[in-house]
Amino acid sequence: ARKSDENGIVVIGLGRFGCRLAGALTRLGHEVLAIDRDPEKVQRWSSELDRVVQADATEEGVLRQLGVTDFRRVVVAIGASIEASVLTVLALAELDIPQIWARANSEKHAKILSSVGANHVIFPEAEIGERVAHLIVSRMLDFMEFGDDFAIAKVPVIDGMIGKPLRDLAPGERYGVMVVGAKLPGERFRYAGPDTVLTEGSVLIVEGSIDQVQRFASMA
Ligand code: ADP
Repeated sequence: ARKSDENGIVVIGLGRFGCRLAGALTRLGHEVLAIDRDPEKVQRWSSELDRVVQADATEEGVLRQLGVTDFRRVVVAIGASIEASVLTVLALAELDIPQIWARANSEKHAKILSSVGANHVIFPEAEIGERVAHLIVSRMLDFMEFGDDFAIAKVPVIDGMIGKPLRDLAPGERYGVMVVGAKLPGERFRYAGPDTVLTEGSVLIVEGSIDQVQRFASMA
């Protein structure tokens, strides 16, 4: 197959997740071929995305006809129907698509997707559940975990940190975290250094182990 479209990405399934994904990829400057079997979904998204076609993605022949084999990357964003998601990944694997991304909605679903040929399995509900738990129990405004017990969080400054340079606050010694960025009110995020002085309303980006970041974001 000719890999003519190095920059393009196929998104299969325009549910709540797939349509957001397709929109974000389009805004990032990638050509998106979106496929959904529901004519209403196709109709709804055809004005916002470059190419939206109505088709059943579980059919290998249909995918071939649509030119899916010209793409290196395909995302299977079907969530509710495990059968449709598995059969679609299988069809893509049969077509030798090099990068198959697939969305799982349970651990077992994830295992099946990997075993039939998905190279990357994403688990949005699990990731969001974990993330939101951190936001609820601390002052964090945002949280991201990278595996190996490493995390980054966006945390508002507290009174005790205002007016002193980071050198004196020594968050590394006290909490084990490193303050890597700071945004003073009305300014943009900048790299934080020992001389950075925080003012009221500042927001920090801190990194460390999950526990350390959580502790830092929980101190009163
Ligand atoms: P979300 O949770 O993101 O809303 P859904 O599972 O509800 O996800 O939506 C998945 C989308 O995938 C729906 O728009 C549905 O029409 C589409 N879809 C399901 N099966 C197929 C298939 N075999 N081929 C193409 N699209 C499909």
